Amino acid sequence: MPHPKSLRRIIYIPFDHLNLSHGAMRYANKDEDLIVLVESQRMVDPSVFSPQRLFFLLSSARHFQLELEKAGFNTRYIKAPTTVEGIKEIQREFEGLQVFAAVQSSFRLQASLESIGVKFCENDFFLTKRTLFREWAESQKSFLMENFYRKQRARLNVLMDGAKPLGGQWNFDKENREPLPKNYAWTPYLKHSRDTIDEEVATSLGIEARDVWATTRHGALEQLQNFLENHFAEFGRYEDAMSSENWAVHHSLLSPYLNNGLLHPEEVIEAALKKFEEGSIPIASCEAFIRQIIGWREYINGMYWHLGEKYKNQNELASSRKLLPLFNDPSKTEMNCLKFIVSDIDERGWVHHIPRLMVLSNIALLAEVEPQEFLTWMRNTFVDASDWVMVPNVIGMGMHADGGQMMTKPYVSGGAYISKMSNYCTGCKYDPKKRTGEDACPFTTLYWNFLDANSENFSKNHRMAQQYAGLKRLSDFPDVKERAHQVLAGLEKGKI
Ligand SMILES: Cc1cc2nc3c(=O)[nH]c(=O)nc-3n(C[C@H](O)[C@H](O)[C@H](O)COP(=O)(O)OP(=O)(O)OC[C@H]3O[C@@H](n4cnc5c(N)ncnc54)[C@H](O)[C@@H]3O)c2cc1C
Repeated sequence: MPHPKSLRRIIYIPFDHLNLSHGAMRYANKDEDLIVLVESQRMVDPSVFSPQRLFFLLSSARHFQLELEKAGFNTRYIKAPTTVEGIKEIQREFEGLQVFAAVQSSFRLQASLESIGVKFCENDFFLTKRTLFREWAESQKSFLMENFYRKQRARLNVLMDGAKPLGGQWNFDKENREPLPKNYAWTPYLKHSRDTIDEEVATSLGIEARDVWATTRHGALEQLQNFLENHFAEFGRYEDAMSSENWAVHHSLLSPYLNNGLLHPEEVIEAALKKFEEGSIPIASCEAFIRQIIGWREYINGMYWHLGEKYKNQNELASSRKLLPLFNDPSKTEMNCLKFIVSDIDERGWVHHIPRLMVLSNIALLAEVEPQEFLTWMRNTFVDASDWVMVPNVIGMGMHADGGQMMTKPYVSGGAYISKMSNYCTGCKYDPKKRTGEDACPFTTLYWNFLDANSENFSKNHRMAQQYAGLKRLSDFPDVKERAHQVLAGLEKGKI
């Protein structure tokens, strides 16, 4: 490291800006800047974050430091009680040096860094500037993602034919979202080899280094290539399908790297479009994937900043149950779907969108779990969790706790949806078609119970008219209600 006198600035890199070409690294100078990463004790407390999440975050940051050094930068990796204390420690050592960073990706960290006088450059880890999103949001009556997405397609000129969408449609959902056929031929998973940094981090966490998640940019790029070669073509068709035989189906598994900076959305879009132009990818699959990246991901980030810091405390349906025991221990449920999904999360800190929305959030919402309890569990457990992405997805999309600010209706369903989209119900103790009796599927019973309990909120919502018409037709509703009480008590005890 050069003599401290030649250093002019400290650049702070948070664990979600691990990129040599983006964030504050755009302005970094090898001779004058000291690049600092801080591992805060609060973050690595093993009683808070799941081991898989910690392993991914810590090992990626440690590898990034090595990459910085190989590129010729002066670096420091500090362990401190909090991020702010770590930065203050380095400021004491290099007195008088300004700390510089890109605008942070969460309200809390941004406020902490502002409070100690850090100077900022723009956060360019997204495709949509916060000011641009705000302009869009302020011009809308309701925040429909589809409207935002169409604007994005035109603005970024992605899958466009002049002013019209390529293929004549904005959306190919009707061709997508199929369940998997029986005896489906699976493509093997990509396995990531481990090095000494991975081993050291895993040992420090008391776990085995698994081969699921890459912890370097090189590995993240391999994951992208693997998706494009082996999964992209079938992505759209099976994007909503779930299976006990395959935890990833044809999902890209890119969210951890997009969220910690190892990949940038622009390069993912470019690579996907290049592959599409080669001709082997159906437009329905390409459009579905592009929508996730330039639509959903950007929309969720925009909404996080637009809706404000207090949004995460919303609980419009006044749900107050404690987190169900099954979330932390899959042996506390006899529902096959939840047993499989929670076991998968224990192993890898990840399941795809539909288990998150239509199984985990669905049961939390139907069982009236307090949204903040569920949010904390999700945020601590998932490998790709960050405040900006968990808060709107859980509070707005999953739990409808914002009174419909983001979504026009709650995502609730009975067991029939899970049965249609997965093989979980085969051999399950519970029957998705039944709403009463000992073997009734808890999802089915609680779905009707939820509609009834929340009729004041939703019965006039025209998008739910069919569901409420169904509720009116139920001749056995008193029995459903009674079974719902038993199910809720059983879920609380971890015995359903
Ligand atoms: C309750 C709930 C919680 C979620 N929590 C997270 C989270 O903590 N972190 C996270 O990255 N995603 C979250 N999502 C969104 C989505 O489930 C994941 O992005 C996706 O499953 C990640 O797997 P993948 O990379 O294989 O995604 P793919 O299905 O291959 O999709 C490609 C990319 O699109 C983006 N994307 C798609 N949907 C969303 C969305 N709703 N919000 C933001 N980005 C999206 C992701 O970057 C993803 O990598 C959540 C969704 C729900 C319903």
